[in-house]
Amino acid sequence: MDAPAVLALGSNLGDREATIRGAIRQIDALPGVRVLRASGLIETPALKPHGVDSSAPSYLNAVIAVRCAIGPRELLRGLQGIEAEFGRLRDVRWGDRTLDLDIVQFAGGPIDEPDLSVPHPRAWERAFVLAPWLEIEPDAALPGRGTIADLLAATGDHPTVYPAEPLS
Ligand code: ATP
Ligand code: CA
Ligand code: CA
Repeated sequence: MDAPAVLALGSNLGDREATIRGAIRQIDALPGVRVLRASGLIETPALKPHGVDSSAPSYLNAVIAVRCAIGPRELLRGLQGIEAEFGRLRDVRWGDRTLDLDIVQFAGGPIDEPDLSVPHPRAWERAFVLAPWLEIEPDAALPGRGTIADLLAATGDHPTVYPAEPLS
């Protein structure tokens, strides 16, 4: 009955590792959501609308696999509540943030609404999503795009592993 989903976590302000660990615990504590697997952490420079911004603090990113007894909109509301709890304040597009939680994939058909697009429309070209995702779901694919292994290779990027104890 539960729907499998894939979530991406990112942080480039504050204690990034503690934030991501705390966020994973809180996601697991959302009613109807269970965290099944977590990738390791990777570190990548901040991406701004004009390109890579090496003057901005770099990101830690991870991807988790979850199962949901709730729907994607309810999940998004829960994730936004957790972002707020971790002090996410500002709203500049792709601006620095303590915590960013995105729904990468959710079982079932695609969703294309103003406030929710699933699969995440930019996941296919983001090594910082594809690399940690590949680690926990080596056979995953994005419908109409290809396997995440091929998509990651096509980015030409090799995100840096950030040494840390396992996230789950
Ligand atoms: P990007 O979407 O390129 O990763 P971002 O994560 O910085 O950018 P936000 O400011 O966090 O963007 O979110 C803007 C809006 O995106 C949110 O208010 C949310 O409604 C919407 N949104 C659409 N699709 C998704 C999704 N799959 N996961 C999370 N948010 C989404
Ligand atoms: Ca994002
Ligand atoms: Ca987001």
